[in-house]
Amino acid sequence: WSAEKVGYDCIVIGAGVQGSFTAYQLAKKKKATLLLEQFLLPHTRGSSHGQTRIIRKAYEEDFYTHMMEECYQLWAQLEREAGVKLYRQTGLLVMGPENSQDYQMMKNTLQRNQVPTVILKRDEFSSHIPNVILSDGDAAFVDTTAGVLYADRALRTVQFQKLGGVIKDGQKVTDIKPGPVVTVSTSGGVYRAKSVVITAGPWANRLLSAHSVVRINVCYWKEKQPGLYNVKRRFPCFLHTGSKEARDHIYGLPSNEYPGLIKICYHNGSETDPDKRDRQTDRSDIDILRRYITHCFPGLEPEPAVVESCLYTLTPDRHFVLDCHPTHSNIVIGAGFSGHGFKFGPLIGKLLCELSQGEVPSYDLSPFRIRRFQAKMKSAL
Ligand SMILES: Cc1cc2nc3c(=O)[nH]c(=O)nc-3n(C[C@H](O)[C@H](O)[C@H](O)COP(=O)(O)OP(=O)(O)OC[C@H]3O[C@@H](n4cnc5c(N)ncnc54)[C@H](O)[C@@H]3O)c2cc1C
Repeated sequence: WSAEKVGYDCIVIGAGVQGSFTAYQLAKKKKATLLLEQFLLPHTRGSSHGQTRIIRKAYEEDFYTHMMEECYQLWAQLEREAGVKLYRQTGLLVMGPENSQDYQMMKNTLQRNQVPTVILKRDEFSSHIPNVILSDGDAAFVDTTAGVLYADRALRTVQFQKLGGVIKDGQKVTDIKPGPVVTVSTSGGVYRAKSVVITAGPWANRLLSAHSVVRINVCYWKEKQPGLYNVKRRFPCFLHTGSKEARDHIYGLPSNEYPGLIKICYHNGSETDPDKRDRQTDRSDIDILRRYITHCFPGLEPEPAVVESCLYTLTPDRHFVLDCHPTHSNIVIGAGFSGHGFKFGPLIGKLLCELSQGEVPSYDLSPFRIRRFQAKMKSAL
């Protein structure tokens, strides 16, 4: 073990999308920053791997839609800085029972916030969105600002912006000693810093008792005729709330990263241990998707061609945790992104950076307080 005497302004634990953006924002502020990751990078064990994610303003709650305004700007800024394309606008088709609360809330939030939205009438649906069946009783609109983020590329880009921070991978944090200077021990060394940000993704459940970790089967489905649902033919991302087949959302992205295959997933899964992910072999989500695809996507073979896996860290209310530790204010926690945190990465990074520096955060973080679960932190610290 090598005890490193040199202190850092901040140590960030976990190099998924949230930790990587936090380290990037800290380094931009010229803070001496160390980003620690337990696995060798890149890896596919957490929540941030894979080629694509949806970015959208369509949310039930105003606060997410407001935050997304700045997120789009921050993504565009990173694209300019790095000279890479990270976002492709496709629009997001939202479908759901016309009178259901989820559907109405999403539609109303967009309209209240003047987000460009197109309401699709039933009789014109199939001319706009061919090869998708709109179920009886369902209605549809399009959030035109939405699109695809190139996730793996984004992660690489933000980790390797040459801003002066240090990344040490293959170093699992095994102990955190709180204090005015926090001491962090890993499998490879001991480091000290004025503050620490913990962005451990599914492994944060060791710290937060209210969270659960579920394995998501990331399914790709084969087009019967190549190109039917392709991004080049302007097929959008979609989100189906309250479908007949499922309790949770079903969502999808146009075929793009794997030609001829479209990604359609169920927005929930079965509980697992992040260190034994693949022991979870439940495929009931795939059964739901199979029925859904048979009913709504006649141009797809109703059997997944490729199944990858990824983890969600769910909070009871599905909102994030962005807060200081209840008793150690220089230890900040970003966790519980509940399967919808990627698009917020640049802003989460900014907010966690602000909290770690004792600054007033630029948004009202009351929906994200750790205390709302009234659950005690586990005795990890
Ligand atoms: C299938 C799927 C689809 C999704 N779709 C969308 C979408 O369309 N839009 C969207 O916005 N979001 C989406 N999400 C959610 C989004 O990807 C996650 O919210 C986000 O990736 C969470 O990032 P994270 O940094 O918190 O976690 P992670 O990416 O898991 O990062 C945590 C990191 O911490 C490291 N770590 C943990 N413990 C330690 C330790 N002791 N020492 C050192 N390192 C440690 C881990 O190895 C890991 O690298 C999706 C997620 C999945 C799984």
